[in-house]
Amino acid sequence: MAQNETPPTIPRGPAFTPEALCSMSGNIKVGACDVRSNLVTGRGATPEEAASNFFASRQLLLDGYAALDRPQPPAIPLTREARLAQILTCGLAKAVANGDYSLVERLAKAVALVLSDAVTPTEIAPVFAVRSQKNEYEWYEVSGKVCTCPDSTKHVKAGDIGYYCKHVLAVIFTAKLAE
Ligand SMILES: [Zn+2]
Repeated sequence: MAQNETPPTIPRGPAFTPEALCSMSGNIKVGACDVRSNLVTGRGATPEEAASNFFASRQLLLDGYAALDRPQPPAIPLTREARLAQILTCGLAKAVANGDYSLVERLAKAVALVLSDAVTPTEIAPVFAVRSQKNEYEWYEVSGKVCTCPDSTKHVKAGDIGYYCKHVLAVIFTAKLAE
């Protein structure tokens, strides 16, 4: 640079945070087979401070991994209602994905049937009795995907074999809860 040139001006900006003068880094290997490798850095104004921060960070890392390795307490089993909610949400997601809002309605009604203990096994193993929602003295027989209710009968006659009435769905939910 020539003598008579003015030095470039340094733009004024936010004050810089002064860099720590000393730093100490190390690759910490954790685990029985040293499978986890982590770079730890400690910084400070003096070598002692940097070393102290390095060892503090290292300890935090080791404590964190020790907590991960500790056996976890067994998960608290979900209540029947919570499991039913999970099953319902799963069914609702599939129904909504298919744009089948009639099924959304039947799924909700099926949950109501299960919650009101309307599903009862019969003496013939695969056959369940499901109480009518409209008439508490009326019961329908559900065997597999077929039900004796008017809704199911109508769809079976129409050849709609993929149709599940709310009673069939209630039996499916009951079976899932028993798993
Ligand atoms: Zn039915």
